[in-house]
Amino acid sequence: MHQPGFRQIQVKGSGLGCWLTLLGLVWLLGAMGLGWLIKSLALLILLVMLTPILAFLGFRFWLRLNLVQAACPVCSTALTGLKGTQTLCPNCGTPLETDGRGFQRLTEEGTIDVTAVDVVEVAAEAVPQLSEGEETL
Ligand SMILES: [Zn+2]
Repeated sequence: MHQPGFRQIQVKGSGLGCWLTLLGLVWLLGAMGLGWLIKSLALLILLVMLTPILAFLGFRFWLRLNLVQAACPVCSTALTGLKGTQTLCPNCGTPLETDGRGFQRLTEEGTIDVTAVDVVEVAAEAVPQLSEGEETL
């Protein structure tokens, strides 16, 4: 890396020159009886090129097994999720769980999700003491 000629070779190696250099190198190594090196290098390059393709195909296969496309059971919005995961419906905000066939509500059917806002504690004995005028509050 610190050799002065290295940078020049790298500059020459761009584009078509790269392939010519590679071919020359292959021929040279083959002539030197290093065919096995070329073969192992070719195998290595082949593996490097095939790995992402195989990984992509594997990922697609896995995705097809685990991807669930169904409608939200509450608002019928089309949703996509992974099997066995939990998600929130982007339309109605219902927490949903993905099973083999579609989306299920995490809470039981008929449960209304209520967020308590401005809760005031009222003592039990204080309630009957309210006069009729205060009820309208
Ligand atoms: Zn929804």
